[in-house]
Amino acid sequence: MQAIIDILKNNNSFIVVAHEKPDGDAIGSVTGLTAFLNDNGKKATALLVDDIPTKFEDIISCPLTRMISANEINSADILIILDSARSSRINLPSNINIDEIKIPIVNIDHHIDNNVNGTVNYINSAAGATAEIIADLAKKMEVSNHWIVSRNCAEMLYLGIVTDTGSFKFTNTTCNTFQAAAYLLSKGVDINKINNAAYFSKALNQLLFEAEMINNHLKCDFDGRYAHAIIPQSLFDKYQFNMKDGETVIEYLREINTAVIAALLYPKDSAVKVSLRSKNSAYPVGPIARKFNGGGHEMAAGITFENKSFEEVDKLLYDAIKEVLEKNEI
Ligand code: 5GP
Ligand code: MN
Repeated sequence: MQAIIDILKNNNSFIVVAHEKPDGDAIGSVTGLTAFLNDNGKKATALLVDDIPTKFEDIISCPLTRMISANEINSADILIILDSARSSRINLPSNINIDEIKIPIVNIDHHIDNNVNGTVNYINSAAGATAEIIADLAKKMEVSNHWIVSRNCAEMLYLGIVTDTGSFKFTNTTCNTFQAAAYLLSKGVDINKINNAAYFSKALNQLLFEAEMINNHLKCDFDGRYAHAIIPQSLFDKYQFNMKDGETVIEYLREINTAVIAALLYPKDSAVKVSLRSKNSAYPVGPIARKFNGGGHEMAAGITFENKSFEEVDKLLYDAIKEVLEKNEI
């Protein structure tokens, strides 16, 4: 942490980026850290190439850069990569390879399987969100360096914490998470604004999409302990729905009282994308994801299957989950 503080103090221009398909933590940690740097006399750019969920569009007050060249990145002092477990999933423009980056890289994350090999790496898998780590960093720099933590910065970091912990419901919520959130609230965060955006801003087309998914595509196996759904492209087309707005779709599966593991399978370009969730740490989904070259956290993970049909992927997962549910049977 001290090495990162020194880097922030001793350099002037920063590009801040996160993982592709940005979620609340990717967006919140990138915009929060960018605001923090800009509020303290630095020149920082929030690079978010992929579209952000519609619900967050109105609360992001920091300008977002959507496109950048390798030369422009290399003319900054430092590239900061946040919340990106895999180097292959960093949300750089598709024509830029991470090997083309010649400036020092600071890698800050809370994913246990982080493989981004930065110049400086700070990986804390005990943190509920990358934004929680940034909040701790900001607090330290406020105390030791008199840096300002503005309301705007605090609101973005709060967004990251509240979304990645499911409003402090998930097992990644710790004493430190609440302390970081309390610290951010002391900076004037409007929690009504953030929670309205995160939780009360669903478009009707999404609700109809979710209702039809549950009615027509949900399957429950192993006495209801495994809830899974294959969402065909036709359902996305029918409701003009895009998974960039679908971070919470899987929650309907996890919410089922009998469900221990939930899986959502949906098309992404030509691949089959899988989202996995567990609600019992005796049955983690992280190892299942890693078995198929995916990754993420123990309780929330994902996989991308190239060149496989939905049925093939469904069967592979079914067998892997059967093994986990049987092996860990209490
Ligand atoms: P989600 O299900 O929300 O897409 O992702 C849950 C978690 O799994 C996130 O931490 C994300 O980084 C990770 N994840 C999702 N999809 C993939 C994937 O295709 N490959 C890897 N390595 N990790 C993924
Ligand atoms: Mn995160």
